[in-house]
Amino acid sequence: MRALTWQGKHDVRVETVPDPQIVNPRDAIIRITSTAICGSDLHLYDHVIPRMKSGDVLGHEFMGEVVEVGAGNAKLKVGQRVVVPFTISCGDCFFCQKQQYSCCDNSNPADKQDVSEVGFGYPMAAAFGYSHLTGGYAGGQAEFARVPYSDVGPVVIPDGIDDDKVLFLSDILPTGWMAAENCDIEPGDVVAVWGCGPVGLFAIQSAFLLGAHRVIAIDHYPRRLALAKQLGAEILDFEAVNVREALAEMTGGIGPDACIDAVGLESHGMSPDNILDHIKTATFMATDRLHALRQVILATRKGGRVSIPGVYGGVADKFPIGALMEKGLTLKSGQTHVQKYTAQLLQMILDGKIDTTFLISHRLDLEDAAEGYRNFKEKQNEFTKVVLKPRSGRRDSLH
Ligand code: NAD
Ligand code: ZN
Repeated sequence: MRALTWQGKHDVRVETVPDPQIVNPRDAIIRITSTAICGSDLHLYDHVIPRMKSGDVLGHEFMGEVVEVGAGNAKLKVGQRVVVPFTISCGDCFFCQKQQYSCCDNSNPADKQDVSEVGFGYPMAAAFGYSHLTGGYAGGQAEFARVPYSDVGPVVIPDGIDDDKVLFLSDILPTGWMAAENCDIEPGDVVAVWGCGPVGLFAIQSAFLLGAHRVIAIDHYPRRLALAKQLGAEILDFEAVNVREALAEMTGGIGPDACIDAVGLESHGMSPDNILDHIKTATFMATDRLHALRQVILATRKGGRVSIPGVYGGVADKFPIGALMEKGLTLKSGQTHVQKYTAQLLQMILDGKIDTTFLISHRLDLEDAAEGYRNFKEKQNEFTKVVLKPRSGRRDSLH
């Protein structure tokens, strides 16, 4: 089959690789009809997440048609259309039972000395196409994918619903939702969101649905800020204003009740701390650039809440621990527990309460995925979300 493979920093290529096979009875094979490039994929593209191997198949946001089901899965049927959560979760372990699916203890087969166990204290759960840190599973920017624990994750989509309407149930829609839910929004709350990429935009939408009175969105790309405005947010261009001062001014001097970091470890901007982070990461003296997170913690009102969906991978430099503690902030974070949210969010899509299609700026043939990565990285203003279509997954070629 054809698949997008990682070859090194800023080098991804569509190649012919072996077709996936059923390995365990609970596996299924999906013929992919739509797959997207995520901001998280950019962290792999930029090689700031470790344990990538040349030839790894990328992609963790995908959906398609079930073409084969293992003997141990009585739930899925060949021919069904499904969206596949990016988190691979067994459904049975201590964590899955608590619906903390992105903490699954069984899905990552890494050995005991796995980097995440050494660096994070415990090994990470598995995800599709996201380095050997998360199990080294082949991803879904491909014609086919093997889905482990396929009786737990895949969401069956009713006939007649376009891929574009439901594809983002795989990751960014639940991620935006969980980011907002982690703000414990109360009536009258002002929520500020750093980053108007897909995650930030869905966090804005979700914050309103969960009862936020006002949402303030921060970025520097006009097109992305315009989308935030369309969703009802007030907007701040961090290159044009002092964000902390502007937020204080907009909130009667007290700061937002809750702040969301939808930026992650590759913060943009020419502030002195970010320039220093650039130098330190380039010379292997630091891992993550957390300018946005520093600003989030400093801007949040006393006693407020901080939610971090943005991905971080290492240890933090100049982290404002004093502000976090002295202001009595609550902090929630995590890879998204996707399976916890899919049924509820699918229903909201079907009921017309959530529309995700506004986000898609480009649809490309899977064969052009390398160009899609380059543009999603370098032309973020115009490329808000890239959806890839494998040729074999096109409706007209389905049997
Ligand atoms: P993206 O790269 O498309 O968007 C990031 C946005 O942040 C960009 O628009 C950029 O201009 C903006 N930004 C950069 N520096 C900023 C700053 N200093 N202040 C304000 N805005 C700034 O990415 P995305 O797809 O929206 O993902 C965002 C983050 O969420 C990434 O770190 C991604 O890895 C992470 N993510 C996490 C999960 C999860 O499970 N927790 C799931 C998906 C994505
Ligand atoms: Zn993603």
